[in-house]
Amino acid sequence: MRIVSAIITSLLFIACVLSAGAQTTGIHPGTTFPLSRMFYHRGPVMLEPNVYVIWYGNWNRTNHTDTAEGQQIVRDFLNAIGGSPYFAINTTYSVSNMTISGKVSFAGETTDNGSHGRALSPGMLRSVVTNAVGSGALPTDTNGVYFVLTSSDVTETSGFCSHFCAYHYRILFRGADLKYAFVGNFARCPVICTPQPTHSPNGNPGVDGMVSAIAHELSEAVTDPDHNAWFDLQGFENADKCAWTYGHHQYKALNGTWANMGWDYFDGSGAFLYHRDFLIQRNLLRTNTRSGFRVDFCATSYDPASGAAQQ
Ligand SMILES: [Zn+2]
Repeated sequence: MRIVSAIITSLLFIACVLSAGAQTTGIHPGTTFPLSRMFYHRGPVMLEPNVYVIWYGNWNRTNHTDTAEGQQIVRDFLNAIGGSPYFAINTTYSVSNMTISGKVSFAGETTDNGSHGRALSPGMLRSVVTNAVGSGALPTDTNGVYFVLTSSDVTETSGFCSHFCAYHYRILFRGADLKYAFVGNFARCPVICTPQPTHSPNGNPGVDGMVSAIAHELSEAVTDPDHNAWFDLQGFENADKCAWTYGHHQYKALNGTWANMGWDYFDGSGAFLYHRDFLIQRNLLRTNTRSGFRVDFCATSYDPASGAAQQ
């Protein structure tokens, strides 16, 4: 989300929670009506980003969420999202001479055990990012999106868990325009920031919720990296318009929780390791013009070849 729209987005979500009682076909499927259109404001988009993760705080705890297993859920998603039917939705935001490929590279990770304490201001969060690149722990990459993922004993003081769940932004560092995002462990506030606060597809509601927010922020970082490319008349970026809705093609994962996409994972020799399911919030698909009007829909998948999409 954009910082300026964070409060509105958060309030929308709380409204969804209050109305969730009658749900029988999945978690918050959301509207199938077309939404107001997106406008291009001439700034750059990211064609094929490199994603970096900074694990901040203590991810070696025994609380069943800030764990090595939790980290692996994030890695598995980041290794799967590039080239997926889900991320292909962002290809509809290509502009002349800038074709968004739909691919993503999970390009590196590092650990910061808490250099700036357990209560991060926005400025301290920026320092966490610039320290990681300044020290050489991660490369300085203007084609990168740096995700600061904090453990559940860490907060962000400008409104994490009260006014927003995540955000993306940019920093100018030694002349380089670096894109970054903050996503805290939602175990800190599961009822506010996760769709399934007590049970989730990978048995870790806090981290499963983070993954959905990572997908949201990455889509926005690609289509609006410097906050001068794609957003609507209210300032909402593509994923903001579909936030906290999970579509009409949900299914039950093996543990009985709701999911809407999943992948098989294999080891280096091609042997099947395991399957993972995820419940990922939708993103806005820019569709072809019909009857003279562009109609944009929230979707969970898109096939650029056929134009087929799942809402
Ligand atoms: Zn957003």
